[in-house]
Amino acid sequence: MGDAVEPVVIVGAGPAGLACAWRLAQLGFSPLLLEKATFPRDKVCGDALSGKVVALVRKLGGEAALDRLFAHPEAQPASMLALVDKRGRQLRLAFPPHRGYPQGLLLRRYAFDAWLAAQLPPTVRLRTGTAVKALLRQGSLWHLQLEGQPPLQAHFVVGAEGVASRVARWVEAYHGLGRPVTFPAVRGYVETLSSSEALELHFVPPVLPGYFWAFPMGKRWNVGVGTSQRKARLPLRTLLQARWPAVQGLAGHGIPVALQKRPLTAPGCALIGDAAALADPFTGEGIGNALLSGIRLAEALAAFPPSKWATLDLAATYTHRLYKELSAELRMSRWLYRLATQGWAVEGLIGIAERHPGLVRWVLRSYGVKKV
Ligand SMILES: Cc1cc2nc3c(=O)[nH]c(=O)nc-3n(C[C@H](O)[C@H](O)[C@H](O)COP(=O)(O)OP(=O)(O)OC[C@H]3O[C@@H](n4cnc5c(N)ncnc54)[C@H](O)[C@@H]3O)c2cc1C
Repeated sequence: MGDAVEPVVIVGAGPAGLACAWRLAQLGFSPLLLEKATFPRDKVCGDALSGKVVALVRKLGGEAALDRLFAHPEAQPASMLALVDKRGRQLRLAFPPHRGYPQGLLLRRYAFDAWLAAQLPPTVRLRTGTAVKALLRQGSLWHLQLEGQPPLQAHFVVGAEGVASRVARWVEAYHGLGRPVTFPAVRGYVETLSSSEALELHFVPPVLPGYFWAFPMGKRWNVGVGTSQRKARLPLRTLLQARWPAVQGLAGHGIPVALQKRPLTAPGCALIGDAAALADPFTGEGIGNALLSGIRLAEALAAFPPSKWATLDLAATYTHRLYKELSAELRMSRWLYRLATQGWAVEGLIGIAERHPGLVRWVLRSYGVKKV
C-alpha cells in the first residue's frame, strides 16, 4: 500500500468529476482526479450542451470561460429545437440568447471534455491514464487498486465514472439497492451537405416512447436514437442505419435516468453525474446535472473539515439538497416522460401547441425555451 492518505479522490474525469474537482479547487482543496483515458477522448453522446451547461460553466469560470467556450473552433451555437411527430408536424422552439450568450451549443464530447479539463485550476491533480480497478473499504479508509500503478488510500471517494461506476455498486450494496433504470441510446455521425439551424427530435414509431435525433454541427451531424421502451429490445443500430444509411461511428450505451430519488452517498463516498443516475428521463440529457452534482458535492464537502471526511455521510448536505434543487425540473421531466409513454403524447402536444400556444409556453418555461 502507498503511504500517504489522500483526503479526497475523484474517480472519473467526465463533466461530473471535472466540475467537482474545479469547484473543490476554488474552495481551497487540492483534489486528486483519476481518469483511465487520456484527453482528448471520445464519449458516446448527442454532443448537445444545454442552457444549464452554459449557466454552470459561467458559475465555475465566469464570463471569461464562456467566451473561451464559444470561441472554440468546433462550437456551434444552438438556437432552435424542432419536435416532429409521426405525421411530420413540427413544434419549433427557440432558445433566445440569455445574458448575451447563446443558451446552448453543440460541441463533440471529444472536444468539450478536453476543453473542461484544460480549464482546471493548477491545484487539481489530474492523473490521466489511471484506471481504478478495485475499491475496498477497511475501517474508515478506502484502498484503491490502480491498473499497472501502485495502490492508493483515501479518506473520501467520489464516484464519477459514469454509467458503469464501481463506487455506485458499492453505494447500492450498502443500501441493498438494485441498479438504476437506464434507457438505451445509440449515436453516429453523418457527413451531409444540407444545413439546418434546428436540433431535430423525431418522435416516430417504432421507438416511441423515445426519439430519433439529428443535431447539425456544420457539415457533420450527430444523429442518434434513444428509447424508454422497456419490454421490446429494439435493434437501435439497425433502425438508425435504416434512417441514415451513410451513418459512421455507431456506438451506444444506457443512459441512467432520474426516475426515482436514490441514495447517492454512503459513509466516506458519494456519487455524481451518471454514476448517480441523474439524466433527464424525458430528454436523456445528463451533462447539465453531471456538472451541477459535481459542484454541489464539492460545496457539501467543503462544509466539513477534512478530518471528518473519512466517516462523513453527506446524505443531508448533498443528496437531499440536490434533489430539492432539481425537484421542479425532475417533476416536469418525469411528467413528460410518463406522457410520452402514451403513443399520442407528442402529437397531442403539437396539436395543443397549435390551438393554445400560451399553455405550451408555460409548460416549456422550465426548460428555458419559447415557442416560435
Ligand atoms: C447515445 C447518448 C447520447 C447522449 N446525448 C446527450 C446529449 O446530447 N446531451 C446531454 O446532456 N447528455 C447526453 N447523454 C448523456 C451524457 O452523455 C451523460 O449524462 C454524461 O456524459 C455524464 O457525465 P459523467 O461525468 O457523469 O460521466 P462520463 O461522461 O461517462 O465520464 C466518466 C469518466 O470516467 C472515466 N472512468 C470510467 N471508469 C473509470 C475507472 N475505473 N477509473 C478511472 N476512470 C474511469 C471515463 O473514462 C470517463 O472519462 C447521452 C448519452 C448517450 C449514451
